[in-house]
Amino acid sequence: MPPDVIIAGAGPTGLLLANELALAGVRTIVLEKDLERGGQSRALNLQPRTAEVLDLRGLLDPIAEQAVATLPTGHFAGIPLDYSVFGTRFPYQVGIPQARVERFLEDRLAAYGVPVLRGHELTGLAQDADGVTATVAGPDGTATLRAAYLVGADGGRSRVRGALGVGFPGRDGRISLAVADIVPEPHEALPTEWRLPSFDVGGGPFLIPLGDGVHRFLFAAPDQAVDREAPVTAEEVRTALATGPGPHLALRELRWASRFTDASRQADRYAVDRVLLAGDAAHIHFPAGGQGLNLGMQDAFNLGWKLAATVRGHAPRGLLDTYHTERHPVGAAVLENTRAQLALLNPDDDVRALRSLVSGLLAEPAANRRIAGMISGLDIRYPMPPGTPAHPLLGTRLPNIQLPTARGLFLTRTPTPSLHTAIAPWRGRVDHTTLPDLPADALLLRPDGHVCWAGTPTTAGLRPALHHWFGPAS
Ligand SMILES: Cc1cc2nc3c(=O)[nH]c(=O)nc-3n(C[C@H](O)[C@H](O)[C@H](O)COP(=O)(O)OP(=O)(O)OC[C@H]3O[C@@H](n4cnc5c(N)ncnc54)[C@H](O)[C@@H]3O)c2cc1C
Repeated sequence: MPPDVIIAGAGPTGLLLANELALAGVRTIVLEKDLERGGQSRALNLQPRTAEVLDLRGLLDPIAEQAVATLPTGHFAGIPLDYSVFGTRFPYQVGIPQARVERFLEDRLAAYGVPVLRGHELTGLAQDADGVTATVAGPDGTATLRAAYLVGADGGRSRVRGALGVGFPGRDGRISLAVADIVPEPHEALPTEWRLPSFDVGGGPFLIPLGDGVHRFLFAAPDQAVDREAPVTAEEVRTALATGPGPHLALRELRWASRFTDASRQADRYAVDRVLLAGDAAHIHFPAGGQGLNLGMQDAFNLGWKLAATVRGHAPRGLLDTYHTERHPVGAAVLENTRAQLALLNPDDDVRALRSLVSGLLAEPAANRRIAGMISGLDIRYPMPPGTPAHPLLGTRLPNIQLPTARGLFLTRTPTPSLHTAIAPWRGRVDHTTLPDLPADALLLRPDGHVCWAGTPTTAGLRPALHHWFGPAS
């Protein structure tokens, strides 16, 4: 049986999307060019909204069991942000290496019976009115694979994006940095706890302990003219560890290293007909504030239920288009804030003064709320269609709720038979439950936990909202 959806890329974005599609009963195949999963750290954190989203599906606890640390705050260019003002159960960052999140999500796919074809690289694609044909190079040669939809979750150098000819405006990197997982020689100055990135350039190398003597080490390439494709050498790491006025550390073992830059680009379209882009394939930016993996996983969460409804044939017209209209502005805002953070990290005297001023501003509750909301992903408010009755909760996420089914949820504060009857034609797509401490008389939630109707028991606008998000009544 051919798949409904092909996902190119088994990074965090592709794997979460595949999990969402599997939950909704959509036949999915994941193509991954690498034969083996790398054990490297790269992203090290789950922001509060990602934690909420995983918890919504009951996935957070088993992932968090593998966490290395909890960071009590977020940060903007190293300036602490208080996440506790958003009514979330997770007002902190879960400190966990990216590879562990990926391994967990890939293992779950195995349990669902979703194939992750490692050693299979998507090398080309063509689409027509009925579907997409992918060309795939695998261990046994090149073959074609057909599906109704294809998602490029294949990272910053996305082949899918290239094949679509989608624009990727922005700018190239101006600085060259390196990240390495290392085992340093024991030293009393080695950190034992996670801390926020330091602006103190005299403070010595910035290391994060990952357990078993392994540390993540992030540094600016000593030679900025370095070929950005060249492997990071142990010599470079040694030099960086022993540079600067702080304690000089020695390298015992280099486990993995990679270069990265402050390049900042965003796809100008997240979808072209039957092919969609998500995660780093749609946006790249400097990893300031710890947002890239989180942004990609939230793309996947936004896209999953919409693509599932489309494949299953009950999506209302235009539902899939809302993936671009909702997620592109969120990505654009992250690109902006990472560039602002990078500017604040410039060790220039005038910037130091600006940074001190911003620090003072962020101590003000309103400023903290604004920036913390953006970095954590907790303040996202998706636009609702014209005519939806106004309500302060409209478009926002409903915190602290579980929605393990990937269906919509209709919530009432008290048992209300008239409303129960009103949603009956959408049974199978929308469940109904009562919640005594609901912040409205009644709420309609999309499968991603965002409020798409809120009201009183008069049901004004409820049927149009059901129709708009869940398709025609049956
Ligand atoms: C130094 C550094 C630190 C970072 N720290 C953080 C952090 O603390 N917090 C945070 O949120 N983010 C962080 N990020 C960003 C984060 O790592 C990325 O945003 C995240 O990996 C994006 O996930 P993805 O699944 O979209 O893409 P990727 O992780 O790049 O996954 C893409 C996958 O597609 C595969 N692939 C590529 N081409 C093909 C093809 N043609 N066919 C099949 N498979 C293909 C690749 O092998 C890969 O497995 C950091 C990044 C860097 C470089």
